[in-house]
Amino acid sequence: MSSRRIYLDNAATTRLDPRVLDAMSPYLEESHGNPSSLHGDGRETKAAIENARAKVARLLVADPSEIFFTSSGTESDNMALIGAATASRSGHRRIVVGAFEHPAILEQSDHLGELGFEVVHVRPNEEGIIEPDELRAQVAGAFIVSIMTANNVVGTVQPIGELGIIAKDAGALFHTDAVQAVGKIPMNMSSMPVDLLSMSAHKIYGPKGIGALFIRKGVTVKPLLHGGGQEKGIRPSTENVPGIVGLGRACEICLDEMSDESVRLVKLRDSLIEEISRRIPNSYLIGHRYRRLPGLVCIGFSGMEGEAISLLLALDEKGFSVSSGSACSSNHAGQAPQSLVSMGFDPFKARGSLRISLGRFNTEDDVEEFIRELPIAVAGLRKITSR
Ligand code: PLP
Repeated sequence: MSSRRIYLDNAATTRLDPRVLDAMSPYLEESHGNPSSLHGDGRETKAAIENARAKVARLLVADPSEIFFTSSGTESDNMALIGAATASRSGHRRIVVGAFEHPAILEQSDHLGELGFEVVHVRPNEEGIIEPDELRAQVAGAFIVSIMTANNVVGTVQPIGELGIIAKDAGALFHTDAVQAVGKIPMNMSSMPVDLLSMSAHKIYGPKGIGALFIRKGVTVKPLLHGGGQEKGIRPSTENVPGIVGLGRACEICLDEMSDESVRLVKLRDSLIEEISRRIPNSYLIGHRYRRLPGLVCIGFSGMEGEAISLLLALDEKGFSVSSGSACSSNHAGQAPQSLVSMGFDPFKARGSLRISLGRFNTEDDVEEFIRELPIAVAGLRKITSR
């Protein structure tokens, strides 16, 4: 095994695309005006923001006026739920969220529960898909439904079109956390029944610390922050101009390259799935075989329940970066990924899963090297655990 590292954790974050860095550079250096200033320096950065907004809108097939820049996917998720809760005039107090949402939704909805809202979780099936009937059974009396487009641990893609229609027929807003989906699969706001959508630049080869919330025209969301008129008062604070420009460029590249990139990644992903099941006895794919993101694979190993962290560390020593469930798990070491528990896995078994997420900079060689080394690491650990 060579000493180079192979990064297979693109669902946690991605490397900045050099083309994105090139676009950002002028705004980290000479072009520094405050976009709210009336002089030429301010007008220049203001124009850069509007240019980026148009690029984000193009990727989502939305109107630029529907795109609001935030600091992250987490902020966008929080803003969608709290902003809708504080703006709601329907008298409804129910919030319906997927049981395997990111903590940015689960913990925020728990918080709203403490404030008196009724929070209901819709469970995915054992393949990691939320069935429309499950939502239909819970939606009455909701003012908002929030279900992620693609799960960050398992990689399954949800039937957002059907779920959104159920929410809207019940008179609720429909929010989707599309942080893992945007730029990987087509998201078309002109045809999808989505009122609010969260996204984040660092999952699509853009910089960290910048995100956006799509708010459909006519939908009211109250701001989390107060203090200035930026982003039409919805998200005040001096804009992160280099970040916004980076997000815009990242979206532009995704739009240009998504279809070719996804064909390439699906091929790599499928060979990874097939080779793992061929070479490692008692390994199994977690989540639906086909309704999944192009680059994300989640694998369990029978007889190694609870051992994902040891496997992750063994692979790390060999130079591979993978995840034991989600990036957040290092803050919750030893806890089972909630996504898997909500799919019916017992917590011990859930702690044995490995997430491998491929991205733009991965090659066939990366996957081949990983497929060579993974069985050795698993066999080594199985020997230890069987003692
Ligand atoms: N939602 C999902 C599905 C994610 O995967 C992540 C990041 O891991 C987030 C939200 C949070 O995004 P950010 O890191 O930009 O706050």
